Amino acid sequence: MKTGKVSLIGAGPGDPELLTVKAYRRIKAADIVMHDTLTTTDLQEFAGKYARVINVGKRPGDGSDKRTSQETVNEMLVREARNGKNIVRLKGGDPFVFGRGGEEAVYLAAEGIPFEVIPGISSVLAAPAAAGIPLTHRNVASSFTVITGHEDPTKDCSALDWSAIAGNVKSGGTLVILMGVRRLEQNVRQLLANGLSGGTPAAVIEKATTVNEFTLSGTLESIPAQTRAAGISPPAIFVIGDVVDVQDQLQPIRQGVTAVTNGYEFGFETMEDLIKVG
Ligand code: SAH
Repeated sequence: MKTGKVSLIGAGPGDPELLTVKAYRRIKAADIVMHDTLTTTDLQEFAGKYARVINVGKRPGDGSDKRTSQETVNEMLVREARNGKNIVRLKGGDPFVFGRGGEEAVYLAAEGIPFEVIPGISSVLAAPAAAGIPLTHRNVASSFTVITGHEDPTKDCSALDWSAIAGNVKSGGTLVILMGVRRLEQNVRQLLANGLSGGTPAAVIEKATTVNEFTLSGTLESIPAQTRAAGISPPAIFVIGDVVDVQDQLQPIRQGVTAVTNGYEFGFETMEDLIKVG
């Protein structure tokens, strides 16, 4: 039997219209769609009638929120591909940005399974855009740094160099923190300890590009209390740096001019038409 193929695909940040045309086409044609828990996209509606759609963001059977282990996902991909299936492995945002897509690709390569990688619109780009915060801006910021906020910043072998990170912001760069809700206080403390001013502009964007999108802005000093008071929960992104103030000049975006759709409101025919045109 001919081995199938795995398409490692980024689903974008939530709004189904932010799927790429290529991602959409692969989902329609797949035998199996294996996806992480995504913010909105209703995949059963996108996928072909006979496709199996499996949420590996939850453990099968026990209904718990614990995700299927990476090892199990890897093994499922290889087994089904060897059964001749074409599999879409769908991840939020971009598969190679904090998505463990690299690990899956390495595993498939080692097992000799044909695969491709289709990038997606990362929340790194989409969340600031939705909030009207340009990541770089002439005379304001000419670089941006993206980090995980999930690491324990007090552990001895932290892979993050907080002095370098704070230095980037001090010299006019933007800092984007993913997975940063839980350890927000510790991360802010590290930035302050490494010389960032408490008055540095900061924003948080929760569930960007979905109907539940919510944005707050303040300063490095105020953002932890604001975040807790508003009950912000993951997924959310923090943006730190002077670009946050550019938001004030972009009121129309902040008043909700950006498209906000979810899987149910989404006009399916519109996408079909788009594909036909494409
Ligand atoms: N591969 C993904 C990131 C996975 S890590 C990407 O490229 O976007 C998960 C983190 O991404 C979350 O903790 C959050 O920080 C961020 N994130 C993902 N989707 C988001 C969204 N719609 N709004 C805000 N943050 C989001």
